[in-house]
Amino acid sequence: MECRICGNKDSQVVYKGRIRDGAFGNYTNHDVEMHQCQKCGAIYHECSRDKEFYESSEYREKMGQKTDDYAVLHDKEVLDKLNYTGTDIFRDKTVADVGCGGGSFLDFVSGAASQVVGIEPTQAFREKLSEKGYHMYTYVGDALKDYEGKVDVVTSFDVIEHVENPRIFMEECFQLCSKGGRVIVGTPTEHPIMRMALGEEYDSFLFSTQHLWVLNKESLELSAKLAGFRNIEVKYKQRYGLGNLVSWLKNKKPMGNVSYPYISESVNKNWMLNSEECGLADYIVVYAEK
Ligand SMILES: [Zn+2]
Repeated sequence: MECRICGNKDSQVVYKGRIRDGAFGNYTNHDVEMHQCQKCGAIYHECSRDKEFYESSEYREKMGQKTDDYAVLHDKEVLDKLNYTGTDIFRDKTVADVGCGGGSFLDFVSGAASQVVGIEPTQAFREKLSEKGYHMYTYVGDALKDYEGKVDVVTSFDVIEHVENPRIFMEECFQLCSKGGRVIVGTPTEHPIMRMALGEEYDSFLFSTQHLWVLNKESLELSAKLAGFRNIEVKYKQRYGLGNLVSWLKNKKPMGNVSYPYISESVNKNWMLNSEECGLADYIVVYAEK
C-alpha cells in the first residue's frame, strides 16, 4: 500500500481490529488494518468517506455534536486555538479557517481581521455563517476561485486527519496563501503516552473511521514541505491533563479532563509541559510560510 504523503510503498500493520465508528462505544463490524508508513511515519487506513457524509448534519450527530448547540460546545476550545496561533497575526488581515464548523474560532478572530473566510462542508453551518457576513465555501478548492493567493493567515484545526491526502490538503492551503502568508494546521497525534499505558484498549478508540490519518511530527512537516511552504516548524501541544490518563486507567473509557483531589494544578501543568518537551503530546501544530 502506497503512502499518499511520501509515495513510499513500505508500510507495517501496527493495529488490526475493530476501530471506532463515530462517538466512543460505536465500532466497525469488521476488522481494519492500520498501516504505518516506514518512511514518514504516518499511520493510515483505507476506508474512505464519501463527501456527502461530511456535508450532511449526520456526521456531526454521529460524533455527538448537534449543529444547534455548536457554540456551547466549542467556544471553550477557542482559548486553546488562540494559544496555538497567538493573537498578533490577525489584525487587518484576511483570515481563512478551514473546517470552521459553527464558526466559534472565526467569531473571536473576526473583530481583528479585515476579512474572514470560512471553509466548511456542513451546509447548515455555512448558511448560518453566511448570514453573519463571512465568506463561506464548502471546500478549499471552491474558495480558490475567489481567494487564490489572497489569504494572509490560513488556520485549520482537527481537519487534516479527515482528508484523503494531507499533502494535497497542504498544497491547497498553499494556493490560498498570499506571498509571505502563513499557515497554522493542528492535528491529534497517536498520543504515545496513552498507547504505552493502555495498549490495544486505547487503540480501538484512537483509530477511527473518520480519521483516515494519524500524523506525527515528521509526516506533518513533510506534507507542508512538499506543498512548497518554507520556515516550517512543528510544535507539540498537550490538550488533555493527567486526570484524563488516570480516568482512562480506572474506567477504561474517555471522560475528558477529569479532576482528582490528589492531582494539583501545578502537577497537572507540569505533566502537560513534560509531555510536550518529551515530544509525546497528544496534539501537533505546524507553522509555515509561503
Ligand atoms: Zn509516508
